[in-house]
Amino acid sequence: MDRERTEPAPDDLVPADAFSLLGHDRRVDILRALLEASRTGDEYPASFSTLREQVGAEVSAQFNYHLGELTGHFVRRTDDGYELRYAGWAVATSILEGTYNRRAAFGPEGIAGRCPHCGAETLVASYREEWLTIECGACDDRLVRYPFPPGGLESRSLPDVLEAFDRRVRSHVALARDGVCPACTGPMAVTVPSLVDGDASTDSDGDDAAPEDDPIATFRCRRCGNRLRPEPGLVLLEHERVVRFAAERGRSLSATPFWELEWCVSGDAASVTATEPWRCTVSIPVGDESLLITVDDEFAVQSATVESAEPDR
Ligand SMILES: [Zn+2]
Ligand SMILES: [Zn+2]
Repeated sequence: MDRERTEPAPDDLVPADAFSLLGHDRRVDILRALLEASRTGDEYPASFSTLREQVGAEVSAQFNYHLGELTGHFVRRTDDGYELRYAGWAVATSILEGTYNRRAAFGPEGIAGRCPHCGAETLVASYREEWLTIECGACDDRLVRYPFPPGGLESRSLPDVLEAFDRRVRSHVALARDGVCPACTGPMAVTVPSLVDGDASTDSDGDDAAPEDDPIATFRCRRCGNRLRPEPGLVLLEHERVVRFAAERGRSLSATPFWELEWCVSGDAASVTATEPWRCTVSIPVGDESLLITVDDEFAVQSATVESAEPDR
C-alpha cells in the first residue's frame, strides 16, 4: 500500500461531500470517459487534451475546473496523464450498472422453468424497483426475490438476464457464507435461531419468534447492514463438497437455475438438530442418493454422509 504517496485530504471526504463533487453532468462525463479509456486501453492514463476531446468540452477553462474538482478523490493525476482512483471507478461502474439514474421494469412474464414445489411447467418473472422476482403462478409460491442492477438488463435477452441473475445470487450467497458482504466487502456474520426444529411453533408469543417459514440463517453485514436470508441449501449450493457429490454422479448443479432446486428454495430440506452446539442438517438429493450435510452455527461443514433415497432398493 502506498498510502503515504496519495493525496491525504481527499481520503477524508465524507460520502455527502464526495457525492456533491459529482453534482455536474460534465464531471460524470469525465468519469465515464476515463472508464471507457481504461477499458479500451487506447490512451490510459489519458492526457488532458484527449480527455477534453472525448468529453466534448468546448471551453478549456471550464473543463479544467471540473477536472480539478474530481482530481484527488475520484481521479489521480500522474506524470502520464489522468486515471481513475478506486472511488471514481466505482462511481463510473455504478452509473453503467444504472444504479443511480435508470428505472426499468418488466413482467410479470412467463418463463421456462419447472416449479420445484408443485411441478408446474412454467414460472413467472417480474422486475420492479431493481428487484427481480421469480414465482410460480400455479402454487403462488415466491421462489426468489433479489436485487439486480437495471444496467444488467441491457443487451441481454430475458433468458440471458435470468442466467446472469442465477450467477449473481449464487456468488453473493457464497460470498456471504465466506464472511464477505457482496455489497460493500465488509465482514458478514451469520445468526441462527437458538431453537431446535419443532420447538419453534410452541414458542410463538415472543416478538422475536420467527414465523415458521422464515429461513434458518440470516447473514448480516457489520459495516453496511446488508442482509441476506437464503435457505440453508442455497448457502451450501456452491460448497465444494456439494459440487463434488453431484459431479461424481454425473450432474452439474450449475446446469439448473437454483430456484428450480427444491432444497435451495425450501426450508423443508433443512432441520436444526441440536442447539449446544448448534447443528443444522441439509438433505441434498441427486439422482437416487442424498448428501446429508451438517453445519455449525457459522455454516462450516461438520460432517457429510451419503444416503440412499430409495431404502427398498
Ligand atoms: Zn408451483
Ligand atoms: Zn456490507
